[in-house]
Amino acid sequence: MTCEECRELATHEFRSAEDLIHAVRLAAEEVDRGVLCRIAARNLASNEQEALDSALASGALPGSVHYRFRCVVCGDRFTLSADTGSGLGSWAREGESDSS
Ligand SMILES: [Zn+2]
Repeated sequence: MTCEECRELATHEFRSAEDLIHAVRLAAEEVDRGVLCRIAARNLASNEQEALDSALASGALPGSVHYRFRCVVCGDRFTLSADTGSGLGSWAREGESDSS
C-alpha cells in the first residue's frame, strides 16, 4: 500500500543522464527527510558502498548504479538502476509491502 509520503515516487524510466541525476537527488532528499532508507545490497562491496555515499552527497555518479530504498512509513521498496553513461534506466516501485 502506498502512503502519502512516497506516493509521488512512482515508477518511471530515465531517458537521459539529467533524468537519472534528478531521480538520485530526489531519493537522497527523501533519505534526508527520513522517508526513505537505503537497503544495502548484499553483493555491494564496501568500496561501491562508499561510491554510492559520495554519489548521493555530490551528484557525481559511478559508471552504473543500482540502489534500493524502502519507505520507512509504509514499507514499500524501490529500485533505482541505470547506466550513468547513457542515463538510461528506471526508478521502480517493487510492489511488495511486507512488514520486515
Ligand atoms: Zn510509503
